[in-house]
Parts: sequence; structure tokens; C-alpha cells
Amino acid sequence: MSYICPVCNGMQALEAECPVCTHQAYDCGRFDDYLGPYSPYREIDDIAMSNGFQDVRKHLCIHLCTCPDCHHNFTVQI
Ligand SMILES: [Zn+2]
Ligand SMILES: [Zn+2]
Repeated sequence: MSYICPVCNGMQALEAECPVCTHQAYDCGRFDDYLGPYSPYREIDDIAMSNGFQDVRKHLCIHLCTCPDCHHNFTVQI
């Protein structure tokens, strides 16, 4: 059983609303990519164990979003 994130694969645009000011927020990519300089090279199960979201086990892709208006950063589970 495999999960393919439609946003990462360009099949769907991420539509997220800023929880602070309700403006349309931008997708900044996968949250895992922001964990540290070595994270892209680590095994995906190792990342899932360490980032607290357990995204692999739940078959979710965590995206980091930023609001262009108030610069609030938040995560969205796809
Ligand atoms: Zn994704
Ligand atoms: Zn905002």
C-alpha cells in the first residue's frame, strides 16, 4: 500500500487558508525538507519517527505553508 501526495506530484494545487488572517497561503513544500540539512538523505521511516507527525504511518504528506500577508507559518496535512 503506497500513498502518493497529489500536491507533491503536481496533480492538485494546495489550497490553504491562513489561520490568523484567513488570506490564501502559499505552499512552501514538504515539511520534512525543512527539518534539517541531512533530512533529505535520511530514510523516510527515520524521519517519520523523529518529526512527531507520524506522517508515513498515517499516509499523510505534511506541507509547510506561509502567509504572504502576515507571514505566519503553519503546516497542512494532505
Ligand atoms: Zn506532498
Ligand atoms: Zn495570515
